Formats: sequence, structure tokens, C-alpha cells
Amino acid sequence: MRTIHRGDRGEAVRDIQHRLLDFGLRIEPEELEGRFGPSTEEAVKAFQQRRGLPSDGMVGADTWGELVEAGYRLGDRVLYLRSLTFQGDDVRGLQKRLNALGFDAGREDGIFGPRTAAAVAEFQHNVGSASDGIVGPDTIGSIERLRPAVEGPSRAVVREAEYIRHIEEKQTLVGSCVAIDPGHGPDDPGHVGPGGLSESEATMLIAEDLAAELGARGAHPSILRTRDDAPSPSARALAANELGAAVCISIHLNGGEPTAEGATCFYYGTEATYSPAGQRLAEVIQEELVALMGLMDGRTNRLTVAMLRETRMPAVQVEPCFLTNPTEEAMLTDPVSRRLLAAAMAAGIERFFGSVESATGPRSASGSTDAGRSSAGG
Ligand SMILES: [Zn+2]
Repeated sequence: MRTIHRGDRGEAVRDIQHRLLDFGLRIEPEELEGRFGPSTEEAVKAFQQRRGLPSDGMVGADTWGELVEAGYRLGDRVLYLRSLTFQGDDVRGLQKRLNALGFDAGREDGIFGPRTAAAVAEFQHNVGSASDGIVGPDTIGSIERLRPAVEGPSRAVVREAEYIRHIEEKQTLVGSCVAIDPGHGPDDPGHVGPGGLSESEATMLIAEDLAAELGARGAHPSILRTRDDAPSPSARALAANELGAAVCISIHLNGGEPTAEGATCFYYGTEATYSPAGQRLAEVIQEELVALMGLMDGRTNRLTVAMLRETRMPAVQVEPCFLTNPTEEAMLTDPVSRRLLAAAMAAGIERFFGSVESATGPRSASGSTDAGRSSAGG
């Protein structure tokens, strides 16, 4: 779709504004009826921030998709498992309720996948109705009658946080499959550096070095695209799921002013929920990038993109540096520095699996909490 932004007018703008109003955001009356002015832009930014999208105030495909998903309320449509999965806030509401009632619907990501379907069937079995996994008015009525406590902390987050300990104690990098996604592709260069290096070329070079580094450490790396093809982010996420990857590393490079620099790692999350395992993976990689490469610490942040949301394993989007910064671009074109960069990322991944201590010293016993770390992504 065409990106809709400030200055635009018409039916599409009106539709966006009504969705923003339904979401509880404010738009000045003189802009309503289809004029994309400053208050509409502010509302779009606020929406993006709450939903874990980069908050640029423009409505492209991702923001539009989230606006549509935000419009669904539980009961608006019949939900069931199908190959083109139902996605939306109705699904998220269902997952939250099932988790609150003690069933395991998995991450509250708003995607009606196999785990959510299994939780529905188990719930139905428990209340003595047909376990068909179909969520219609009867099933919703049964759920609501039990008054699930949807206001408290999500049980899915607690469960996943406990799972991190399991990974640290029981899993090793040796023998684990690591999915590596070099961002962009041949028809989609992404950012381009002052020296002419494109993000799609650079992410492939880093991916190859990372694969070599992980292979040397006993892992089974798998790169999700070739130099000649560019599957969609959803297709890449599906491929990672089908590989049964233990973790997924999506590589991008940042862009901005020539002086902007440093590393940032993203993990799945919105204002409402997040992936604790993704956060842990992002933090250890971020720490190694900063400690071993001396990169400026751009910290970790929540983000909602298909590679993070639709993958079922702990997943991160690593942006090790700014391609638009001449010094950092030069680092990427130098094979030796690039190998060091890959080694730093691999060291972080290895630490995620436990048993290895950080280059900067032993891991703190307290771990980290999410509060105050990154309030709203972006
Ligand atoms: Zn990118």
C-alpha cells in the first residue's frame, strides 16, 4: 500500500482517523473527515508507540495492519485454527483470558496458532463441551462466566521467564539450530552507506560470518535467504519455525545522520506484552557488542515486526551499527572487523544458552526486570 502521512486528505485518512478514535486517541475536530494534520500525526505516533512499531507518524503497511487488528473485539468473528491465521486484538483477548484461567495459550501475540487452538480445546474439554477448538459465542460465554482476571500480569510472561532458566540449565549452543535472517534482499537494499554499501549486502556478509562463527562453536546455523531471493518476513519467520530453530537472529543496520552510531537490539513486545526470552537474548548480544566491539550502547527495545512476532523461538533483531556512519560502514567492509563483530554476536548467543560467562565478568545473579528498561519500544 501507499504510505499515508501528514498533508494527505481523503477517504483513507478518514478511515485511519476513525480507527484511531476507536482506539481511544484524540484528533482535533477540524482534522476529522479526512485531513491528515498535526493531531492525526500525533495520534498515529501514540498508536505506534503502544503497539511496538517505529513511531514515525506515517501509516504504511505495518501500521495499517496493526490498526485493522486493533479493531477486533472478542466475539466479532468466529475464531479457529486455519492456515492463514486469524490475527487481531480479539485473539489477544482470548489468549489473555485462557492464560489467566490457567490454560497455556502461549505468548499473547494476537496470532491464533496451534498452541492457542490446543488451549481452546483443553478449555472446552474442561467445561464439558465439544473440544472442537472453534471459538464462537458459546465458548466465549463459557470463558466470560469464569471471570478471568485479565488485569494482572500475564501468566504467559511469567511462564516464559521461567523457561529461560530451563534453556540456561538444559540447552547448549552445541547441536542447536540457529536461524539467521539477513534483512532485506536483492530488490530491497535498505539503508545505503556513504561508501555505497547497501544494507542487504552488509547483512548477508554479517550473516555469513556469524554462521561460520556459530558453526565453529558447534551450532547448526541456517541462513534464511540467498543473495538472489528475498522471501517476505512472514515466509522467513515460517522457515525458522519449520527448521525448529532454538533461536532466531535477524540482522539489520541502522540509518540516520552521519554522526549517529552504535548498536541496538530489539525483541518482541508492545506496551501490553513482551517476550522475556527474546529480551534476555537481546540483552546478552547487546552486552557483548558493546563490550567486545566498543560500540555505543543503543540499548535494547521492544518492537513488533513479523520476524519477532511470528517466530516461535526466542528471536532478536540485531542492528550492530549505523550503515550511514562512515566509520561504522568502514568497519563492515573490513573482513577482520566484521569477523570480530560476528564473534561478539556469537558470544552473546552462546551466553544465552548458559554455562558461558560474559567477556565483562560473571553474569549478575539478579537478572533484569523489564520495568523502566524500555517503556514503549521505538
Ligand atoms: Zn533494515
